[in-house]
Amino acid sequence: MNERFVVIGGDAAGLSAASKARRENPDLQIIVLEKGPWVSYAACGLPYYIKGNVSNLEDLVAIPPKKFRQERKIDLRLNHEVTKIEPKNKNLTVKTADKVINLTYDKLLISTGAKALKPRIERIDSPGVFVLRDMDSARKIKEYLENYSPQSASIIGGGYIGMEMAEALSTWEMNIHIIELLPHVLNSFGPEIAEVVENHIKNYTTLHLGKSVRSIQTTDEKKLSVQIGDKKGEDELLTEMVLVAAGIAPEVALAKEAGIQLGQTGAIATDEYGQTNVPGIYAAGDCAEVTHVVTGKPDYIPLALAANRHGRAIGSTIGGKTTSLAWVAGTAVVKVFQLEVATTGIADMEIAREHGFNPIKITIDSHSRAGYYPGSKPIKISLLADRDTKKLLGASMIGEEGVAKRIDIVATALSGKFTVEQLENLDLAYAPPFSPVWDPVLTAAKVLNGKLS
Ligand SMILES: Cc1cc2nc3c(=O)[nH]c(=O)nc-3n(C[C@H](O)[C@H](O)[C@H](O)COP(=O)(O)OP(=O)(O)OC[C@H]3O[C@@H](n4cnc5c(N)ncnc54)[C@H](O)[C@@H]3O)c2cc1C
Repeated sequence: MNERFVVIGGDAAGLSAASKARRENPDLQIIVLEKGPWVSYAACGLPYYIKGNVSNLEDLVAIPPKKFRQERKIDLRLNHEVTKIEPKNKNLTVKTADKVINLTYDKLLISTGAKALKPRIERIDSPGVFVLRDMDSARKIKEYLENYSPQSASIIGGGYIGMEMAEALSTWEMNIHIIELLPHVLNSFGPEIAEVVENHIKNYTTLHLGKSVRSIQTTDEKKLSVQIGDKKGEDELLTEMVLVAAGIAPEVALAKEAGIQLGQTGAIATDEYGQTNVPGIYAAGDCAEVTHVVTGKPDYIPLALAANRHGRAIGSTIGGKTTSLAWVAGTAVVKVFQLEVATTGIADMEIAREHGFNPIKITIDSHSRAGYYPGSKPIKISLLADRDTKKLLGASMIGEEGVAKRIDIVATALSGKFTVEQLENLDLAYAPPFSPVWDPVLTAAKVLNGKLS
């Protein structure tokens, strides 16, 4: 009998692993179990489906199931939910629409993703309250918008999904409120960058910063009353839909029950090859920890590239070519109406201190193109370093153009463990339509290096 590799979860991490394992080992028996009806879908595109940039939900499917089955010889089973892992006898209990089956494995990958966090808010499950996590949740939101034409929405949470959804819902011509518990939206990007975002989105939405939602009530007029603040009688928002975008948590219930070790972040702990404390069981993607490039410690950074890349590395190992997992800088970019907002590494002083660094931060204003060149737009960059080692810790940036890819310069420097001086000395491309002669990243490094010395 050929060795059997079973994957739980049929999206970024799971299918990257299955595909790579097949490429490395044509003889492996590969089974992917997905609890839902969708596989290989781009969750990152969901806000743009709701906004209308993407017409059909099906367009977000990167590779159809048929291709996995026919071309990659992967036994892909939809609507198969794993309900139990028994590491002792390498057995899985799997629930389908009409039966419960047992399935054994030789190697197992847990790539169950994450679930949307639902804060403790009274009546959070009322009709008209949504989360955006997967294809079906996106479809429900779009159907509600099409069928009921709500005039107003309240978004609970000012993280990147909250920001993307504010833009998406604004195209439906609604009054939008964003309620954020922390002092700023996109809080981990640092206050200088977050304040620019806030000033910009005030043109399109009403912000309620440093406020929590206590309860959601249904009113006689079929509206939702969102009660903000600790006490009764504080702010009340009358709204017609609520989106809960209050963060996510790793989906680890199966792993926990099977005795698989979780890390301090609450996600599944793995070694450098993605293997858990149970030999032969691996974990990757939004359910697992990664190693942070800056701290060298385990962290929880649920983003798409790491899920794909780590799934691929594990698939390679299981296919016979041992491959370690790349470390992760947490590089992220989000479009917020007209703005590009990006971050990499540690961009917040407090977080840097928590990790034991002695941080220093500068913020500079520059431009996306030479000042005299038509269309040049402002760019603001915050750059952080450690005073003791003079090494870069991270950056965040904001502007109308040229931010999304500039952040990658800093991400690259972080991977190379650059000092600020090494970043300052990079030989970056220059021509007036693309940047000033001192690219904004170089200017930021120059200023920070000046402070350090
Ligand atoms: C709205 C939105 C926007 C995003 N935008 C970005 C972005 O711009 N950039 C970025 O880097 N990242 C973004 N992300 C995050 C990115 O989508 C995730 O990091 C990525 O999808 C993680 O892949 P994964 O395979 O680990 O998990 P998932 O994609 O969540 O897949 C996990 C799969 O496991 C299945 N599953 C769970 N439990 C079981 C079980 N017991 N049995 C069988 N199957 C099971 C689930 O049904 C699911 O299909 C976004 C996410 C969302 C929701």
